[in-house]
Amino acid sequence: MYARRKTINADVSITGIGLHSGIYTRVELHPAGPGSGITFVRADLNGLRIPALQASTTALDYATTVGKDDVSVGTVEHLLSSLMACGITDVDILIDGPEVPIVDGSALPFLHLIDAAGERDLGVDVPVLRVTSPIEIVEGDKSIRIAPANRLILKYKIDFDHPAIGRETFQFDFEHDSFLRKIAPARTFGFMRDVEKMRAAGLARGGSVENCIVLDDKGVVNGALRFRDEFVRHKILDLLGDLALIGRPIVGEITANRAGHAMHSRFVAKILESEGRQEQRESAPMRRPLESFA
Ligand SMILES: [Zn+2]
Repeated sequence: MYARRKTINADVSITGIGLHSGIYTRVELHPAGPGSGITFVRADLNGLRIPALQASTTALDYATTVGKDDVSVGTVEHLLSSLMACGITDVDILIDGPEVPIVDGSALPFLHLIDAAGERDLGVDVPVLRVTSPIEIVEGDKSIRIAPANRLILKYKIDFDHPAIGRETFQFDFEHDSFLRKIAPARTFGFMRDVEKMRAAGLARGGSVENCIVLDDKGVVNGALRFRDEFVRHKILDLLGDLALIGRPIVGEITANRAGHAMHSRFVAKILESEGRQEQRESAPMRRPLESFA
């Protein structure tokens, strides 16, 4: 099973504050050649290149970070989710600081950016990762699993002991549903009771009512939700961004139950591990039967 390698058609840029660092950065997307993949380029550090791959992940608390040689780029998941949803396989992401802007907390600004750049078919195929048997991680009451399928379907279930969230489930079918309408607008969310602890740990420094759904113990403090079940939709957005770190398109039916970035990442690692074994088996040289030596 193959898809086409795609890049963008023109340079585009966006600026904004980082959710965790509180640092303003400028992000430029540039077209890239077939096979170069999705790469973060630290424009402020001699163009150090960090491939957007599972092997580059360095931190997974509250957001996904990729890095190399003590240099990192944080909160990559909403931008990667948008690129994955558009089927972009090759692009250079120049950034002049340590964290991708959170913008409005959703993937919409990035989708609009890719739309403004336009897409270009690179005329080369990319093999799609298709699992041949189920792969699963279970940790207590949390789990995530992929079963073979010929298209990508994401199912997510969350259960927060909070009056504004509670139990939510959502299913998204990439062939038949609209990412732009159903998933991209869903914003990230945070709890006021965690903010002090997070700030003390160097997190959430750029978080505000402008860029995430803020919850106190009773409900949402900053206005109306974009969807009644915006929280679970955002989890699907995050999961897709973490799946982008596989480095090529994937198909299968993925069911996640109360997972998060760290668990998504262990899941991606397990898929890549099992895929590696599969490829080794397929490329193993044919052994001559023992009878030949009799
Ligand atoms: Zn998110």
